[in-house]
Amino acid sequence: MELPLSGGCRCGSIRYRCSAGPAFSWKCHCRDCQQASGSAYCPVMYVPKSAMTINGTATYYDVKAESGNTVSRGFCPECGSNLFILADLVPDLQGIWASSLDDPNNFKPQVHVWTGSAMSWNATADNLPVIAKAPNEEQFNALLAENN
Ligand SMILES: [Zn+2]
Ligand SMILES: [Zn+2]
Repeated sequence: MELPLSGGCRCGSIRYRCSAGPAFSWKCHCRDCQQASGSAYCPVMYVPKSAMTINGTATYYDVKAESGNTVSRGFCPECGSNLFILADLVPDLQGIWASSLDDPNNFKPQVHVWTGSAMSWNATADNLPVIAKAPNEEQFNALLAENN
């Protein structure tokens, strides 16, 4: 993957650059991601916050995850594009919605998570591993190890 990564919202009010590659990348089929996106799942990569430069200000909406942790979803207040996710679980990382990348093909998903709530009409037949809910610690550490 060529660095820096760059991307932004549909209207251009928010632009970002990221000088580091993702710690992990997945397709999340949880209900929160489905409702926030209006789509079947959220393709998201988590990068180090310290590597991000953001121009413009996203509006954040907090939701309580099933785990009890807070997840903040950042979107453009002008055009509504979903851009960012901040999660208590990974305080040093920032989620970037893959479709906001200038080159979305830089997204290299490692796994499907929360497939227990995946929609019946959404095919997941791409040979990636599946996890029915949130990954356990061992699964999560294996994902991180793949990118180290
Ligand atoms: Zn915008
Ligand atoms: Zn999700």
